[in-house]
Amino acid sequence: MGANVWVIVQHREGKLHKMSWEAIAAGQALASVTGGQVSAVVLGSGVGPVAEEIAGRTALESVRVADHEALAHYTPGGYLSVLAPAVEAEQVGWVVLPHTYQTVDYAPRLAQRVGAAIVPEVVEMENGDDGLVWRRPILNGKLQARVRVTGDRPAVVTVQSGAWSADDLAEGSASVSELDASGAVPDREILGVEEAAGEQVDLSSAPIIVAVGRGVGGPDKMGPIQQLAEALGAEIGASRPVIDNDWLPRDRQIGSSGQTVAPKLYLALGISGAIQHLVGMKGSQTVVAVNKDASAPIFGLADYGIVGDLHEIVPELVKAIEEAGE
Ligand SMILES: Cc1cc2nc3c(=O)[nH]c(=O)nc-3n(C[C@H](O)[C@H](O)[C@H](O)COP(=O)(O)OP(=O)(O)OC[C@H]3O[C@@H](n4cnc5c(N)ncnc54)[C@H](O)[C@@H]3O)c2cc1C
Repeated sequence: MGANVWVIVQHREGKLHKMSWEAIAAGQALASVTGGQVSAVVLGSGVGPVAEEIAGRTALESVRVADHEALAHYTPGGYLSVLAPAVEAEQVGWVVLPHTYQTVDYAPRLAQRVGAAIVPEVVEMENGDDGLVWRRPILNGKLQARVRVTGDRPAVVTVQSGAWSADDLAEGSASVSELDASGAVPDREILGVEEAAGEQVDLSSAPIIVAVGRGVGGPDKMGPIQQLAEALGAEIGASRPVIDNDWLPRDRQIGSSGQTVAPKLYLALGISGAIQHLVGMKGSQTVVAVNKDASAPIFGLADYGIVGDLHEIVPELVKAIEEAGE
């Protein structure tokens, strides 16, 4: 029998993170290759309903629940104090997690604690002549590395958003059983959790999106972009650096930690095409990319590409659209 797979799910206030389903689908795909059993693991306090939700929908060996007051809020120490001894005691072969801000915080420490290999941010699994190989983007998505885990130690894998689909889940049901959480020791005290201001702009229903990336160069360069959006009747979206630099408000961010969009037309201006951006817009019907670097990964997805300086091309586009409308 092959190595068993544990998928550690992420949730907040009783709601599963959507990437948890994708991680379970990845775990199932992995188990179908290794021949092991796959279980989902839920940590928290009062998380029975979350476990039941998974168990009622998914074909798994079991859903393991570590329920303890000390796990009411996520802390890396709390999670590690439960997961590390359990992974060792139960000789888990593969620990699969969604690649999120939370797991970036504790997955490497878990791997270190249990002496596991770690393969972060995987986007594909291959099982061919080279054995079981993971693909993961490197150098800001410009290249993909193929990685094989060697030796007989366990491995921790984090799964990039959108790489597996919740639609790929093998449906069925699972038993729910306890995972010992009596040793849970948080390593920090959460004094409070404040919600960020809610989303104001819903980009998910916009038919046309003009999206800008770091290549736009600054907030003072947005004038022609706004003219283009107006000429097309489009919403403006952005990659994360634009938001992190405060060039546009956070509710304009598209990607794995922003909104997911599927417009008829998506213009990507000065966006390189990192995987975290692509997962948020790859459902667009037609993608037009403008980038001065002909090797930018965005061109791999674009239906139409213009290699050039967006500051020259955008005013030309505005002019052409206005002339066409006259
Ligand atoms: C956990 C995590 C979550 C993330 N979530 C998101 C997310 O939700 N959304 C997101 O977008 N990113 C996200 N990122 C960041 C992501 O990895 C990339 O860093 C980001 O998408 C890059 O943004 P960019 O393409 O605008 O910038 P860059 O990668 O710096 O690319 C800028 C591009 O502009 C081009 N350029 C420069 N000047 C010009 C010009 N004058 N004319 C034309 N082209 C020009 C360059 O050739 C380059 O290709 C996340 C990262 C992590 C680790």
